[in-house]
Amino acid sequence: MTGETIFGKILSGEIPCDEVYSDDQCLAFRDIAPQAPVHILVIPRKPIESLNTIQEEDEGLLGHLLLVAKKIAHQNDLKDWRAVINTGAEAGQTVFHLHVHLMGGRLLTWPPG
Ligand code: AMP
Repeated sequence: MTGETIFGKILSGEIPCDEVYSDDQCLAFRDIAPQAPVHILVIPRKPIESLNTIQEEDEGLLGHLLLVAKKIAHQNDLKDWRAVINTGAEAGQTVFHLHVHLMGGRLLTWPPG
């Protein structure tokens, strides 16, 4: 399923993206429908569907995604920002390739909808 997602196609180069960061484990690019002045997605190169399917072996990769999110947040001069991982359709997940939403640049209220 994950291999067929739009993010899988971005990773393979089939579909373009507005890239902001790339390394051997992950890719980060601007969300196509930004919900905040800064709205960037950090995705693993490994095709993981969601947090529901992570394995023990993914521990380091998951930490890496958050460290990359912090690096990008700071590059964008964000001190206060939010990292969101929607997990499952009823939690708002629409693309079933794990991704961290990095959002900031405006007041972020709580709770989200
Ligand atoms: P989620 O609803 O948590 O699964 O988030 C999926 C996100 O991917 C949404 O915020 C979409 O706007 C975003 N998105 C979908 N297609 C693309 C694309 N081709 N390039 C960048 N972002 C996308």
